[in-house]
Amino acid sequence: MNVYEKIGLKRVVNASGRVTILGVSTLSDEVAQAAIEGGQSYVVIDDLINRAGEIISGYTGGEDSCVTSSASAAICLTVAGLISKGKKSIVDRLPDSTGLPNEIVIQKGHSIDYGAPMPTMIRLGGGVPVEAGTANEVVPEDIEEAITENTVALFYVKSHHCVQKGMVDIETMRDIAHRHNLPLMVDAAAEEDFRKYIALGADLVIYSGAKALEATTSGFVTGKKEYISYVKKQYHGIGRPMKIGKEGIMGLLKALERYENKDREKEVAENIAKVQYLCEEISKIPGLKAEQIQDEAGRAIYRARVTLDTAETAQGTKSAAQINQELRGGDPQIYARTEFLNLGKIDFDPRPLVDGDKELIVKRLREIMEG
Ligand SMILES: *Cc1c(COP(=O)(O)O)cnc(C)c1O
Repeated sequence: MNVYEKIGLKRVVNASGRVTILGVSTLSDEVAQAAIEGGQSYVVIDDLINRAGEIISGYTGGEDSCVTSSASAAICLTVAGLISKGKKSIVDRLPDSTGLPNEIVIQKGHSIDYGAPMPTMIRLGGGVPVEAGTANEVVPEDIEEAITENTVALFYVKSHHCVQKGMVDIETMRDIAHRHNLPLMVDAAAEEDFRKYIALGADLVIYSGAKALEATTSGFVTGKKEYISYVKKQYHGIGRPMKIGKEGIMGLLKALERYENKDREKEVAENIAKVQYLCEEISKIPGLKAEQIQDEAGRAIYRARVTLDTAETAQGTKSAAQINQELRGGDPQIYARTEFLNLGKIDFDPRPLVDGDKELIVKRLREIMEG
C-alpha cells in the first residue's frame, strides 16, 4: 500500500503525462533526499534564493535566475517585476497597478488554459493581458499594433496547448520586442531544453520544476540580471503567498544536476518500447486500434493513440468517452490523456508508467471492450 492508499485513496496509473491533476511527476531517491536534508537545517532564505539563482543560471545560460513555487508563480512574479521595475512603492501596492504601464502583449492563440487560464496569471501579477490577433491567425502587424506606451513586455508561450499554426514565431516576437525596447518573456514550462530560449535571445524564460525535471513542486525564471532582480523583490510583496520552501529549492537544484547527467536518448528509447508494446497489444483487442504519435509541440515524447475501429463500433460498442470513464472508474484508476476524446481518441503517455502499468492498461481495456 502506498501512503495515499493508507489514507483511503485509490492508486492511480498515470498514463496522462506530467499533469498537475495527478501530482505531475514522482521524485527520485536523490531528489527526495536533497529535499529532506534541505528541510532539516536553517538557512538565510534571501541568500539561498540568490545562490540557487546562480546555480540554476549555470544550467540555462541566463545571467541570473529566480526560483519560484511553480511556473505559474514565475509568470505572476515576472509580470509584477516588470511592472514595478524594482521600485519599493510599487512592490508594496501590487497587484494594484492602476495608472502604471502594465500591459502584457500575448498572441491570442497563446492565451491558453493549461489547467488554469493564462490571463489569470498575468492579472495576478498586476498585469493586463492584451491579446493580439485572432485565435487561429496572428501576424507581426497585430503585435506591433497591440504595443502602446503602457506595454511592459511581449509574452510568447511554447506549449502543446497553444494553437500551433498561424502564430508569429519566437524570433519575430523577439525582434519586435527589442525594436520597442521591451523584454520578451517566454513560458517554456513543460519544455525539456533549458538553454534554448535564452540562447535565442529571450529576456526571461519560465520553467516548471516538476515537469521535465521531475523535481519537487517548484519553478524558476531565468534571464537578464536586472529583470531577475525585479522578480526577486516580489518575495517581499505579492510573492509571499507563492513562497517556495527551502526543501523545495534543494529538491529543484538536485533535479537540475541529475537532469544534466541523465541519458535522455536511452529514456526516449525505453518510452518508445512501452508505446510499441501498448500499440501492438491494444490493436489485438476487438474494436480498438492503436498507433504511435509524437507530441504536438514537437518534443521527443511519443504516445500510444487509441481510436475506435468504426467498422466494429457501428455495431453498438462503447464510445471513447465511455471507455475513458470506465478506465478512471476502476481500482487502480487509469488516467489517459483526453485532449482528443471529442474526436474519439484516447492517448496513453508512457513516461509516468511504473512496472506493471502497461500490462494493466491492456488488461483493463480488454475487459472494458469485452463488456
Ligand atoms: C504546466 C504549465 C504551466 C504551469 O506550470 P506549474 O509549475 O504547474 O505552475 C504554465 N504554462 C504552461 C505552458 C504549462 O504547460
